[in-house]
Order: sequence, then structure tokens, then C-alpha cells
Amino acid sequence: MPTYDYECKACNHEFEQFQSMKDDTLKRCPECGKDRLIRLIGTGAGIIFKGSGFYETDYRSSNYKKAAEKDKKTTTPAPKETKSKKTPAKKDGN
Ligand SMILES: [Zn+2]
Repeated sequence: MPTYDYECKACNHEFEQFQSMKDDTLKRCPECGKDRLIRLIGTGAGIIFKGSGFYETDYRSSNYKKAAEKDKKTTTPAPKETKSKKTPAKKDGN
């Protein structure tokens, strides 16, 4: 039987529940008794996207911006104001 993670949106209580996949999702929070439970597993990737997912999007878009900027003004050397760990790729020809 799979274990499902639930979180209560009313009191933020989190717990795991063994359930058959045929069972209905729980709604009532055992802590506060309100019907505010959401099931985290299955949609987990969607719900936790504020972590790694967001970062990845941000990373990609910043890369994209850099590329666009580089493309826009190829004659100007890249400013050093970016605080990325890696140095941005140098122009071809060095
Ligand atoms: Zn609750």
C-alpha cells in the first residue's frame, strides 16, 4: 500500500497515511478537524516547484538573458557585475 503525504492548509499539520489507491483522498485534518487537507504525493513535483523547479527556471532564464545580451552587443566585453560563480563564457577568439 502506498503512503500518501497530507498537509493541512488550515494548521499546516503534515502526516503520512497508508491508503489504497482506490481510497478517496482524505480531507479532514486529524489535528484541527477541518476539511483542509491536500495530498502531497503524486502532485508533489508540482507543489514543491517553488524549490528546485523555480530555481531551474530562473537559472535558465538568466542564462537566456546573458546569451541575448551577448548577442546584442558583441563588441563590448561583458561587465563583471554578475555575481555568478562561474565566469560567463568568454567571447570566441578571446
Ligand atoms: Zn489541520
